Amino acid sequence: MFNIKHLTFATALFATLGLTACQSVPTQTPNTPVPTTKSQYQHIRNATAKINYAGKTFLVDPYLAEKGRYLAPNATIRNPLIDLTQSIEEILSGVDAVIVTHTHLDHWDEVAQEVIPKDLPIFVQNAGDARLIREQGFTDVRVMGKNTPFGDVKLTRTRGQHGTDEMYSDPKIAEMVGDAMGVVFQAKGKPTIYLAGDTIYNHEIAHNLKFYQPDFIVLNAGYAKIPNFEGSPIMGLADVARIHNDHSTKAIIATVHMDALPQTAVSSSQMREFVKHHDLTRVIVPKSGDIIQLDF
Ligand SMILES: [Zn+2]
Repeated sequence: MFNIKHLTFATALFATLGLTACQSVPTQTPNTPVPTTKSQYQHIRNATAKINYAGKTFLVDPYLAEKGRYLAPNATIRNPLIDLTQSIEEILSGVDAVIVTHTHLDHWDEVAQEVIPKDLPIFVQNAGDARLIREQGFTDVRVMGKNTPFGDVKLTRTRGQHGTDEMYSDPKIAEMVGDAMGVVFQAKGKPTIYLAGDTIYNHEIAHNLKFYQPDFIVLNAGYAKIPNFEGSPIMGLADVARIHNDHSTKAIIATVHMDALPQTAVSSSQMREFVKHHDLTRVIVPKSGDIIQLDF
């Protein structure tokens, strides 16, 4: 059972992985069954992840297309930029529920809509996304609130701000970035997980760190660029450092949402360099397929 204090948890995590800080976690060999009794986070690609937690397996933000399938409006480079490293069958194996933090293509794409069983529970942020996903044929769509139960897991939606104030003041950009949620996973005797989602750093993120005291945080940190706007609709290098150095948290931080999209400005290798250079000892930059064990 997990009852170790945060700092010890960090040390224990790295010790379990046989790592020193800044090294990336080892990839589990493909086709190895993922045990469901342990809490673990598997980075699949972009923000797509598979999380085993308190007896349930969640698939988060499935963006499952093969490399180069899509050409976004006004774009010249196709996405995703990289392939999945696992088969879709392997990704879907054992999944009890899907969490869609918002319905942008890189979090919920047409391949996901095609291959995910229509009766699987899908957790979403609001009634609008629920309506859209029901229209796509899914029959068990649930809007996440506070302490929304799923088995022994309590899921809580947190607010994201998927753009700067300046971006939201432009009607077109506001429409484009829309709303996105984060998710807190809690269960008795389990480490608390906080996925911040597609959001900038703001006072709500700082509040969530204090309030939920997460043991493990996932940051979407590829710093996307929107032409003619300062800043980014998601976090970047400086935000990772700020959260790592925030004295209210000693959580392990995984950084994702890099490498897969042409508009992201920070690659995972740049993030690794940054983490090393700034001695961010609790930050992990997983590769596709890497599994991070969260309890012992
Ligand atoms: Zn995104």
